[in-house]
Amino acid sequence: MKALVVDKPEAGPPGRAAFRDFADSELPEGDVLLRVTHSTVNYKDGLAVTGRAPVVRRFPMVPGIDLVGVVEQSSNPAVKAGDRVLLNGWGVGETHCGAYAPKARVKADWLVPLPEGMAPAEAAAIGTAGYTAMLCVMALERHGLTPERGPVLVTGAAGGVGSVAIALLASAGWYVAASTGRPEEQAYLESLGAKEVVPRDRYAGGAARPLGKEVWAAAVDTVGSKTLAGVLTEIRYGGAVAACGLAQGMDLPASVAPFILRGVALLGVDSVMAPRALRLQAWSRLAKELDRTKLAAMTATVGLDEVPRVAEAILAGQVRGRVVVEIG
Ligand code: NDP
Repeated sequence: MKALVVDKPEAGPPGRAAFRDFADSELPEGDVLLRVTHSTVNYKDGLAVTGRAPVVRRFPMVPGIDLVGVVEQSSNPAVKAGDRVLLNGWGVGETHCGAYAPKARVKADWLVPLPEGMAPAEAAAIGTAGYTAMLCVMALERHGLTPERGPVLVTGAAGGVGSVAIALLASAGWYVAASTGRPEEQAYLESLGAKEVVPRDRYAGGAARPLGKEVWAAAVDTVGSKTLAGVLTEIRYGGAVAACGLAQGMDLPASVAPFILRGVALLGVDSVMAPRALRLQAWSRLAKELDRTKLAAMTATVGLDEVPRVAEAILAGQVRGRVVVEIG
């Protein structure tokens, strides 16, 4: 089969992924063989495909952290041939061959049944980015935050996680402010439910002072680094930030002032190793709460051949919303 593959480098870090014939025998161990119908391009896929960061840690590796498909063979009684399933994370596309190939061999425990009433392409459009956005919303809710507490800020707003987070929070009744470096996307962000657009520059330079004006009851941050540090200074007393991303960087040049003087909480969100029960809850809520018209408006569809181009574009911050990859 034709697959997008990162082969073992002769020396140094992994290089770019390239298309080549990939034998079934090269697929890793697993109790389920899937026919992959759809995948997506997430920021992490961009890093893996371009070799820009050492995401791939086993070789040969088929990148692609999101997989939607049909079970072809299963030796696990929990899953049977013909089942429609989805898979996000668990190291797939990093340490276990992923979605940019017509077939994948994976562990049954990693699979989530395709939610009833959701098309395979819609599940892919949501993908890791959308499921992470839901995990962020759930983290804010677990902290007791509700729309009555005040406005919520979403950073990296025009990206995949940001776009889905805006749609979910707006549907839940929040006043949503969208922080973006792309002012030309104002109409798009408003169509998803944003009530206000905040220029990226307001936070990109970091925290000007240990504490700023109390503005936001909550935030979903996909950017990290100085941006997250700046956002923390403007969180209202008792508020929280759900932090899931590092589009600006992995550092966090912040002070403890928001935590110790305003009781602000920093809620870490991880999708890769999130427990199955949380995933099932997130996907069940996505099926009910995410406006499918908004999902369609934020989604572009490409073929497998176009993944290397999209991988470059997502790292350059040029992808709007979500990209679905049609595989087979
Ligand atoms: P996207 O590239 O689609 O979105 C990221 C957005 O961040 C961009 O669209 C842009 O938004 C903004 N951005 C990009 N570069 C910079 C920069 N240098 N400074 C400030 N803002 C920037 O990626 P995803 O939505 O797929 O992922 C977002 C982040 O979340 C990534 O860092 C990703 O690795 C992380 N992630 C983490 C997960 C987890 O489990 N914790 C799961 C999924 C994603 P705009 O143009 O609107 O400013």
